[in-house]
Amino acid sequence: MPKNDLMEKIVSLAKRRGFVFPGSEIYGGLRGTWDYGPLGALLKKNFKDEWWREMVQLRDDMVGIDAAIMMNPRAWEASGHVEAFVDPLVECKLCHQRFRADKPDELREHETSHKKEKIEWTAPQKFNLLVKAYLGVLESKESEIYLRGEITNGVQVNFKNIVNSTRVKIPFGVAQIGKAFRNEITPGNFIFRSREFEQMEVQFYIKPDEKEGEKWFEYWKQSSMKWFAKIGFKKTNLRFRDHEPAERAHYARLATDIEFNAPWGWDEMMGIHHRGDWDLKRHQEYSGVDMSYTDPDTGGKYIPWDIETSSGVDRPLLFLLLDAYAEEEDRVILKLHPHLAPYKAAVFPLLANKPQLVKVARKIYDDLRKQCMVAWDDRGNIGKRYYAQDEIGTPFCITVDFDTLGDGEDKKLKDTVTVRDRDTAKQERIAIDTLADFIAEKIQ
Ligand code: ATP
Repeated sequence: MPKNDLMEKIVSLAKRRGFVFPGSEIYGGLRGTWDYGPLGALLKKNFKDEWWREMVQLRDDMVGIDAAIMMNPRAWEASGHVEAFVDPLVECKLCHQRFRADKPDELREHETSHKKEKIEWTAPQKFNLLVKAYLGVLESKESEIYLRGEITNGVQVNFKNIVNSTRVKIPFGVAQIGKAFRNEITPGNFIFRSREFEQMEVQFYIKPDEKEGEKWFEYWKQSSMKWFAKIGFKKTNLRFRDHEPAERAHYARLATDIEFNAPWGWDEMMGIHHRGDWDLKRHQEYSGVDMSYTDPDTGGKYIPWDIETSSGVDRPLLFLLLDAYAEEEDRVILKLHPHLAPYKAAVFPLLANKPQLVKVARKIYDDLRKQCMVAWDDRGNIGKRYYAQDEIGTPFCITVDFDTLGDGEDKKLKDTVTVRDRDTAKQERIAIDTLADFIAEKIQ
């Protein structure tokens, strides 16, 4: 399938089935904003829960926090964002549209859109991505704040609070998931680059030592890649890309991206950064609060170094959809990992107008939904219902038929149902009283 077709298919499926809608659509939209529909909200929640489970729940050396979006503006001065959170902006002198000077493909595409006219670009100027807002009853310079441009700062300013309120000892990490806002010059590629999005990050604090730094940087590179593979990404669609020194952000001593093989070419999904002591030192300098850590064993004091993994939520979700989309004969399948699938199972009575079938199916549905998200469908023929569930990634479809009631030829099939597997389309007969365990085991 041509790659651009794939992107169009995903955008259309996302809208049609309720994964993602354009933000404020009835008012003509708001560029760079998206709303997650009923299925998208489930997928996103499952994705974040899965990450949290891996990063916080299953580890001894990690804790999680949830910091405020709005911060004292001094925090953004300290972190360097007021000065250096910039993209190079150029303007087309013909139509005054603005673009990022560091995205040659986008510039070339715009140049061809002017057909025969010769384009001239303005000289690149620095454009700050922080979104400003006013807080308080007066709209003045003093009440100006920023909506956070990334979620890291909320962790850094709480470093002391976390150390003092928990039993963490270096090396340890802090995980966080939350919204970030950027006045992107060219939001685009659906939810790949938006102006409001979510991030999930780990800040992992270590001893300030070159060898430790290299060791943990490599550790987080490999374990991040493993996690993406574990939640279902095809390995061939992922790769590392190390940053050259000139390309690194102002805070980074080392930096690598995990990239995805997107329809428009390989592009960033997550960044892994060796931030050294940049953040804690700067916050110490700007706040006057001592940010050093005292080693409980030796009594030695130091400002730790920080290895960060910084991923979006929306961007990997787009990549997951692209990665999981398949067309087989006449059906479309989202081969999502069962942990991520919005519904784990769907329950159907074979016929909607047979109360005995509906009653048994409804009981199965009500029992299973206590355990996980389950869909109900009694419209149209069974084939169409299967296809509708395949398209949204539901791993199992459960059908209650006349055999279930003991009204079929084979009486042994009483109290059993047909369970159909999304990926193989194979069906098997399962006893109703073992269904909950069957589903639990399969989606584990
Ligand atoms: P890009 O240059 O592609 O805009 P970036 O290098 O500025 O990204 P980081 O600041 O390293 O991105 O942010 C970490 C992660 O947050 C990215 O890898 C991406 O997954 C996500 N992210 C960043 N900006 C956006 C955005 N505008 N929309 C959606 N996700 C984003």
